[in-house]
Amino acid sequence: MSVRTLGVGSAIVVAIAAAAAIVIRSPRNERAVPARLPNVLLITIDTLRWDHVGAYGASDVSTPALDGLAARGVRFETAIMHAPLTAPSHASILTGLTPIRHGVRDNGAFVLPPHLPTLATVFRDAGYATAGFISGFPLDRRFGFAKGFETYDDRLPRGRTSRGGGDATERHADETTTRVTAWIDRQTTQPDAAQKERPWFVWVHYFDPHAAYEPPAEYLRRFASRPYDGEIAFVDAQIARLLGHIGDRDALTRTITLVTADHGESLGEHGEETHGVFIYDSTLRVPLIIAGAGVPSGRVAGVVARGVDVLPTLLDLAGLPAPQSLDGRSLRPAIEGRPMTDEPAYIESLLASRNFGWAALRGVRDARWKYIDAPSREMYDLTADRRESINRFPEQPERAATMAKVLAAASDRATPAATEPVTADTAARLHALGYIGSTSPSRRATGDDPKDRIALITRLEHAIADTRVNPTRAASALRALLDEDEGITVARRQLAAALSAIGDHGGAIQQVRWLEARGNASAEDLLLLGESLRATGDLAAAAAARQRAARMDPASPEVVLTEARASMAERRGDDARHAYERALDLSPGNPEALAGLGQLALAKGDLDRASTLFERVLADAPHDVEARTGLALVRGRQGRMADAVAILQEVVADAPADAQALAALGAALARGGRPDTAVPFFERAISAGARTPAVLNGLGFAKLESGDRAGALSALKASLSLEPKQPGVQQAVHDLSSTTPPPVVR
Ligand SMILES: [Zn+2]
Repeated sequence: MSVRTLGVGSAIVVAIAAAAAIVIRSPRNERAVPARLPNVLLITIDTLRWDHVGAYGASDVSTPALDGLAARGVRFETAIMHAPLTAPSHASILTGLTPIRHGVRDNGAFVLPPHLPTLATVFRDAGYATAGFISGFPLDRRFGFAKGFETYDDRLPRGRTSRGGGDATERHADETTTRVTAWIDRQTTQPDAAQKERPWFVWVHYFDPHAAYEPPAEYLRRFASRPYDGEIAFVDAQIARLLGHIGDRDALTRTITLVTADHGESLGEHGEETHGVFIYDSTLRVPLIIAGAGVPSGRVAGVVARGVDVLPTLLDLAGLPAPQSLDGRSLRPAIEGRPMTDEPAYIESLLASRNFGWAALRGVRDARWKYIDAPSREMYDLTADRRESINRFPEQPERAATMAKVLAAASDRATPAATEPVTADTAARLHALGYIGSTSPSRRATGDDPKDRIALITRLEHAIADTRVNPTRAASALRALLDEDEGITVARRQLAAALSAIGDHGGAIQQVRWLEARGNASAEDLLLLGESLRATGDLAAAAAARQRAARMDPASPEVVLTEARASMAERRGDDARHAYERALDLSPGNPEALAGLGQLALAKGDLDRASTLFERVLADAPHDVEARTGLALVRGRQGRMADAVAILQEVVADAPADAQALAALGAALARGGRPDTAVPFFERAISAGARTPAVLNGLGFAKLESGDRAGALSALKASLSLEPKQPGVQQAVHDLSSTTPPPVVR
């Protein structure tokens, strides 16, 4: 370290870093590390293009936290990730290896091999407290990313999925930040002094800029025409909050902070709207900023930083030795202002080859040139042509041959990857995030150049996103795609989901049977088949389909939860309870299972247990609609009407079309002596789909108590037409029909 490169006031930092270095070079007692080692904060922002950050020259954006870090740290003008996909890219950041070496080539289908050292295992072995907080499902612990973290917080709130399973998909930056600050507070207030003095390594992953671009209302207003930038501004504000929290505890000067992104976003460039297929700089060039303990201020480094360089750089800055035979190298010389030569970055995307049987894309990028090995090969001069619009391959044969050799040498280092078959809920959750791939790999190899077929991917992405919004329109778009290429398995799978969503269960059954007849049906498909068969009333065939899914995927929580949903719908309470309990074994803390057990306890009148179960869901997901509604029903049964009404008013404000919450609010208001206020909520519940005897009775009696006898009669008659055996309702209808209303006195 050179003192010359440090700003005023950094003498203490230098002393700390020097002391740390001495400690590390002495024979190590691995668990007894003095607290003087720096904390390390790694922040990865999903889907953040380098040129949408103020410090990188973007105008009309709001990134003061990132800009501030760049001002007090070192900003790498060019940073390149190795794959445009969340899991492969993060695996490179955490291991210092390219996807070829760590083996994670796609989202959802690979597990990071357990024997590989990661930032977390190295810091943990050096005595650090380690914690990871992730915000998107592709980094769930089941894919091996939790290794080395003493705390790995991947508890995502329930979100909507294309198949309505209510699975967790992402967590917003404010909620993730709250979990991180709470962990830091716990760490700094430990009663055990030795624990409290441990330095920490914290990885925070933010997911918000990933499509769909739906920033909080305030940011949507400010960035109405550019919601992607609104998402970035929101994450930046949360980073400011996190850094402020650490600063308030006087820990910021002892903390090395590195912020980067796993990949960028095409935003329409090269015909690609999001990311994943191509390996242009639109999706591989990201920001990379390092600041804090021992890092000089305000420097811009020209050397190309790569994803694989993150691990060796952070370990070097913390004074820890790096694992052997990495693909990356420490960027410390550049951080300290010393010259470094550029090293080429290996880049790849196997998304289109794995999922559609098209050609794989692999390439090499150095400081000036990019070479892409595709059926139609590409070469770009990045200094003259930043947007990679002019293919120089024909005029650069020698350079291309040289770079092809570099690529071949990189590929020779391949090691076998650990994979696991995609489980049903994995596939459903990845589809909910808009991923086109990650189901069972394609069984064909057409070798098509993805450049020639990108329009099809865009249409497929639109249709997948549209399945949640307008399944009828999505279904016709998917049929059109299948007319062009009937072998796009993911399109047929999604068509089955869209048909199921619009109630065309026969159509959904037909599509899944098509897949099953060709050996292409996944467990997820068989679950959908089971739900569709159940909807048509064929309960035996539905149960058989669920059993085939369970044989294919016995440890999948989604398989067990589907069994539980079927049992609930068929009023087999004990079967439902067994299935929910098994789901909790497979997926501890699973919110759907907890809420389902809460419903069962409520139905049996076990109010204390129901309350505990709903509260457990709400501890992780305070906005969960089903759990809040369930808790309100408990409060109502306990006679705490005002509490029930207050909870339900909030739920209905958040979820204005939730039939169950609307009906429960109507009932709580009526029982609390406000029948006239209750009426519109019963009516809205019926419009939202809850045209059941119970809701019609609630409406009828609320109208009766409000003096609307005609309205009451009509609602109660409607209830009887659905369920004739209701003696109390029959009596009320009889009384209303036979008595003359009192004359209106004016
Ligand atoms: Zn990502």
